[in-house]
Formats: sequence, C-alpha cells, structure tokens
Amino acid sequence: MRKKLIVIGGGAAGFFCAINAARLNPNLDVCILEKSNKLLAKVKVSGGGRCNTTHACFEIPELVQKYPRGQNFLKKTFHWFNTNDTIEWFAERGVDLKTEADGRMFPASNESQTIIDCLLKEADKYKVQVQIQTSVEKISITDTGIFLLQTPSKIIEANFVCIAAGGFPKAQQFDFITNLGHTIEAPVPSLFTFNMPGNPIMELMGVSVSEAQVKIAGSKITATGPLLITHWGMSGPAILKCSAWGARELANASYQFTIRVNWIPTYAEQDLRNAWPLIRAEQGNTKMGGRNPFELPSRLWVHLLTVSGIDAGASWATLTSGGQNKLIVALTAFECKVSGKTTFKDEFVTCGGIKLSEIDANSMQSKLVKGLYFAGEIMDIDGITGGFNFQNAWTSGWIAAKSIAEAAKNA
Ligand SMILES: Cc1cc2nc3c(=O)[nH]c(=O)nc-3n(C[C@H](O)[C@H](O)[C@H](O)COP(=O)(O)OP(=O)(O)OC[C@H]3O[C@@H](n4cnc5c(N)ncnc54)[C@H](O)[C@@H]3O)c2cc1C
Repeated sequence: MRKKLIVIGGGAAGFFCAINAARLNPNLDVCILEKSNKLLAKVKVSGGGRCNTTHACFEIPELVQKYPRGQNFLKKTFHWFNTNDTIEWFAERGVDLKTEADGRMFPASNESQTIIDCLLKEADKYKVQVQIQTSVEKISITDTGIFLLQTPSKIIEANFVCIAAGGFPKAQQFDFITNLGHTIEAPVPSLFTFNMPGNPIMELMGVSVSEAQVKIAGSKITATGPLLITHWGMSGPAILKCSAWGARELANASYQFTIRVNWIPTYAEQDLRNAWPLIRAEQGNTKMGGRNPFELPSRLWVHLLTVSGIDAGASWATLTSGGQNKLIVALTAFECKVSGKTTFKDEFVTCGGIKLSEIDANSMQSKLVKGLYFAGEIMDIDGITGGFNFQNAWTSGWIAAKSIAEAAKNA
C-alpha cells in the first residue's frame, strides 16, 4: 500500500526532503504544504539574488566550526551529506556551482532562479505535489499512528511528516510542534549589525578595514574579519560573526554592551608596546597625521589620533608618553558602546528552535514521535554568513528524505 509523506514548508529544506524522498521511494506519495503564496522565497532573495548555496569548506571538523549552535549534531549529519554532496547533487542535475575568493559558492549563472528552477523541475519529475496558501495549524496523531494535519480548510492525513517550517521569531509560533511534546530553545535573532547612536566614529561612515578583531567586553566572544563603519554603527563580517556567536548573550543583555576593536590584529596591545620604539624611530620627524605605519584608512587614523588627544599636525618626535599610551590603546582596544542592533538584510537567521537532543541526527526523526522528522532552520542550528545555513538545509533535508524513504519501504 502506498504511504504518504507531508512536508510542512516549501523552502530549501522542505523541497530537498520532498524531492529526494520521492526519488528514493517511488511508492511514496509526497506533498509539500506551504503557508504563503511563494515557494522557495528565501532561496530567491538569498545572497543578493544569487543564492549563496554552500561554502567551499570540505573538512567536517572545520565546517562545524562555522555554526555557533549545533556543532556536535552537525558532526553526525555532515557525515551523511556535506558540501561535496551538495556540489555533486546540483552538478548531476546540470547546475554547476562556482567558488568566490572568500569561499562562498553560487550557481555559475549568478542567479538564484537557477537553483529554484532545478528544485521545481525535480519536484515535477518525481511528482511531488505542492499546495501553497496551506498553513498547518495543528498536528495530532491517531491511535494507529496516522498523522492528522489541520489546515484552515481541511484535515490532511499522512504516514510521515517532515517539519521544515524555517525559523520563527516568536516562541508561540512553535506551538503546533510543542503540542507534540517537543521543547524549543527560545528563538532570538542572529546575524545583525551593531548600533552606536551618538558615537563620533559614525562620522567615518563608509570607512572599512580589511581585517579587524572585535571582542565583546566581559565575554569570550571575539571575531576577526573585515569591518565597515556605517551611518548607524558597525557592520561587516567581524561584527556579524560576533552577533552570531553572541546571539543569546547579547539578547539577554538587551543589546546594550561594549566592544573593543583591535584595528591592527597582527599586534596584541603588549606586542604593539614592545614594537613601538622601532615604529616610532622609523617615522622620524614626520607629521603624525601623514601616512600611518599601519596602512589604516587615513580618516580612521586621524580619528584615532583625535580621540587620543594627539594633534595630527604635530611630529612623531614630539609624541608624549601619555599620548603614545592612549594611541596604543585606541589602535588595539578601541572601546565603543553598543546600544541596539539592526538586522542584516542580506542574510538573517534565527538562533534557537527544536531542541537537538530530541532529534536523532542520523535520521532526523523525532526521538519522541515515531514518523515525525525535522529539517532546516526549524532546529536549534544556525551558521555564520557564507552559505552555511543552506548547507544545513540541504544536509538535514537529504537525511530526512533517505530515512523516510527507507521507513516507508519497511512499514
Ligand atoms: C534575506 C535572506 C538571505 C539569506 N541568504 C542566505 C545565503 O545566501 N546563504 C545561506 O546559507 N543562508 C542564507 N539565508 C538563510 C537561509 O535562507 C535559511 O537558513 C534557509 O532558507 C532555511 O531554509 P528552511 O527551508 O529551513 O526554511 P525557510 O526557507 O524559511 O522555509 C520555511 C517555509 O515554511 C513555511 N511555513 C512556515 N510555517 C508553516 C506552516 N505552519 N505551514 C506551512 N508552511 C509553513 C514558510 O512560509 C517558508 O516558506 C538568508 C536568509 C534571509 C532571510
């Protein structure tokens, strides 16, 4: 007898699960229920319309380091389906991925529509049904183990259910899952930029450094990478990485905290103190505000001189020990108060979701409800920017598909 799989959510994870399950078990009827009127909406807008499909990171121990939450779980899931498998899966279907200098991978066409077309074509090929504007509001289970999915217009029956409904910003939105006995880690935003209202640093709007180290004061959170000064504060990969690693801690602090920026991370504060006599001697009698020895953008350098109380027109030879001390601190531990956040529009994810200890990483099946599976961002897994969140969607969608296809054969 044919079995039925209902996938809740028509995003990356839902499509990957539905297509692969239908492909691996032709006796399975597969249907995706999507509450909105758009399929694969995030794939479409992701990566600035190019879909940052995955990241050229091929070693599992290195790959899991890109996920602030879910590392131990991912060590198991990537064993089944990782970056290589993603590249191969799309290549087998005529979609080649190209790698950019920073490791991000995009379809060679540079169009997210290529990924969407591929997924829709595969869904069609394997006769996956898709119903849009169908929101699942409640899930119950009969005594015989049949799932009953309540939608606004009717109740739909299924033998297997995969929840791939993405991240929800509010805890109550998980009620249709917690009603089944599952617990959630409270959702909070990840990947945001830092607001610094009133800070004079914002006069440098548009200035960027290619490598800065950002530390959240009073915590162990630190990240290195490009940093951009914006008209509201700071942005760029170093800031976004800090926001991801500190998502929960910073939410608990109501986004009021202090950061210390090292603008020249090749030097720790003490290293710079040690190197200072030589650096200073090399500058001779030149003007402090002239070309700086650290190759920092000149507007930033002049700002650091100003906040250290140093006249940009004075010569290096006249630098006092007090001024020198303040400048070393400004260069290596520049303190800024952060008050509030701005969501990063190019890539936004939710920290939190279904508790991972309640899901079997080797099958994506719920440990509490037989026949119930999870895939994608609905779980308490999130990555930094760069294609890692989609990789988790492909990986978990594929594992769920394989397990459901096998379970349906044996049922
Ligand atoms: C603007 C933006 C850009 C991004 N860019 C990138 C990127 O370049 N690279 C990267 O790796 N990550 C990126 N991300 C993150 C990435 O898009 C997500 O992590 C990924 O889409 C998660 O896939 P998913 O299938 O789990 O969830 P989603 O894509 O969110 O899909 C879930 C679907 O489920 C539907 N749904 C929810 N509840 C129900 C219900 N009760 N009944 C029926 N349907 C329901 C939703 O409407 C939605 O369509 C970006 C995110 C955003 C917002």
